Formats: sequence, C-alpha cells, structure tokens
Amino acid sequence: MGKLCTLCPRNCAADRAHGIVGVCGQTEEIKIARAALHAWEEPCISGTKGSGTVFFSGCVP
Ligand code: SF4
Repeated sequence: MGKLCTLCPRNCAADRAHGIVGVCGQTEEIKIARAALHAWEEPCISGTKGSGTVFFSGCVP
C-alpha cells in the first residue's frame, strides 16, 4: 500500500500511487497550473529576494 493522499481538505485518502482515483478525479500525476517567482509574501517567508510559488490544478469541484 502506498501513501494515502490527504493533500487537500477533502482528505479522501485515495491510494493514488497505485491507480486509485481520488474524489477530485486525479490520478498519480500532478498537474501544475503555474510556477513562478512570488515576491509579495511576508518577509519571514520571502526574505529580501522573494520566494517561489506553485499552484496545483486539476481538482473537480
Ligand atoms: S480529493 Fe484528491 S487531492 Fe484531495 S485528498 Fe482526495 S485524492 Fe488527495
């Protein structure tokens, strides 16, 4: 048994690594909507040079 997915608040615990599709309709593949520099977080996160951000995509409402 692989690690069960608890990535989002739905917490459906699908075994995506072994072909089980989650409530969201997603498989083991991760879809990235956007990855970019993000300079507007609080200083304790972004420091003086900014930080990065990754937005995931693919959830079915
Ligand atoms: S709905 Fe999708 S992302 Fe959320 S816990 Fe289930 S499999 Fe993971």
